[in-house]
Amino acid sequence: MKHLKISAVLQQPDLVGQTVEVKGWVRSRRGNKHVQFVALNDGSTIKNLQIVFDMSKFTDDDMKQITTGSSLRVTGELAASQGKGQTCEVQAAEFEVYGTADPADYPLQKKGHTLEFLREKAHLRPRTNTFSAVLRVRSAMAFAIHKFFQERGFVYLHTPLITASDCEGAGAMFQVTTLPLDKLPRTEEGKIDYALDFFGKPTALTVSGQLEGELGATALGEIYTFGPTFRAEKSNTPRHLSEFWMIEPEMAFYDIADNMDLAEEFLKYCIQYALDNCKDDLEFLAEHYDKDLISRLEFVLHNDFVRLSYTDGVKILEESGRKFEFPVHWGTDLQSEHERYLVEEHFKKPVILTDYPKEIKAFYMKQNEDGKTVRAMDVLFPKIGEIIGGSEREADYDKLKQRIDELGIPMKDMWWYLDTRKYGTVPHSGFGLGFERLLLFVTGMANIRDVIPFPRYPKNAEF
Ligand code: ATP
Ligand code: MN
Repeated sequence: MKHLKISAVLQQPDLVGQTVEVKGWVRSRRGNKHVQFVALNDGSTIKNLQIVFDMSKFTDDDMKQITTGSSLRVTGELAASQGKGQTCEVQAAEFEVYGTADPADYPLQKKGHTLEFLREKAHLRPRTNTFSAVLRVRSAMAFAIHKFFQERGFVYLHTPLITASDCEGAGAMFQVTTLPLDKLPRTEEGKIDYALDFFGKPTALTVSGQLEGELGATALGEIYTFGPTFRAEKSNTPRHLSEFWMIEPEMAFYDIADNMDLAEEFLKYCIQYALDNCKDDLEFLAEHYDKDLISRLEFVLHNDFVRLSYTDGVKILEESGRKFEFPVHWGTDLQSEHERYLVEEHFKKPVILTDYPKEIKAFYMKQNEDGKTVRAMDVLFPKIGEIIGGSEREADYDKLKQRIDELGIPMKDMWWYLDTRKYGTVPHSGFGLGFERLLLFVTGMANIRDVIPFPRYPKNAEF
């Protein structure tokens, strides 16, 4: 007999009366000398399966090893349950303990550990209700993202993780080298001799797959990437990780309006998918962390995103009379407090802010006629601030080249990128969604370190 997942057992009322085999980890055991109840969980659902031990068939010695955290195989008849909050339970006939968990030192004894405590126990926290729920939602969201793009004919493009171009400018990079750091080879001028390094030149982990994504889009039409990115920024915030996953669609023949339409449709699709497929987990997270979670998700689904220029956004902020920690005026980069004011207090809806000053945006964004702004778009969400950053790309060779020169970006690094504008250039657009920012929104968790299994942030690379 092959064992059944607990999620399958709980979903099939016709199994009642039959013998089933289940395997999992003990969440708790309680009872008396006549009957004992074990809550078993195998990670397939937030719900535990109750196992009933009739103590006329088992001894106290049998039961001693069944403690919180131990692992079990149980067979027995599935019976309809009288208990509150469950439809069925297993009447244990026979069981086997795979591994014990000594109550004296198993760290997840009691319910209700703080998230900070669990971050220190990230090797075991997937066994908690909270993290198993978050990780199931994370998995479902990853699938939803592929489903969305594959259904629309986008090609999944794998862009490199090790890169020699430092021109994206999206964030500080982690250097990749095999040179001996304690005795670096030097050139005659005393500089580090990268010719002797593994790739023969300086390399780093990528901060974004966008530039290569554009190479894909200008050949395959519509592509998306979905992979890890790395930023060595010292920002110890609840919204930044040093290693995070990014989704970067890039589309030929899209202008910025098409790009905004896609971003809005995409976010709504992911949220709808979560509501349709992760209901039990979302309800658990709502109950324990964020009472307004479900209504906030539905609110975003049922409202059009506001579309507004940066210039108009700054005007609203200036006229708000609000005292911000960072003063705001035309030309400043918006901080999360500004973004959240627009979204949560002024419009009370997600906002797509467009046409930012060119000085605060990347070189590749399409320049507007006014000579001052570029066709950037940031999608701003309640509780999160920026969730997506994107733009229509500059398709004109001369304008792009001029911007690269103005900013002093070395041409030797950029020749291949400029070739897309030299040969058969097309209008095109794209954006980047931080996967963990989406998960913050969908799960209602407050700290980005709690929506990735093993977070990396300054001074932390445990597990
Ligand atoms: P922020 O201003 O919040 O640092 P950014 O402008 O650096 O964001 P982009 O370079 O546009 O962000 O990256 C695209 C998306 O990647 C962002 O909209 C965000 O969702 C996500 N993102 C950026 N940096 C991080 C990070 N350190 N950790 C997690 N997600 C991030
Ligand atoms: Mn950043």
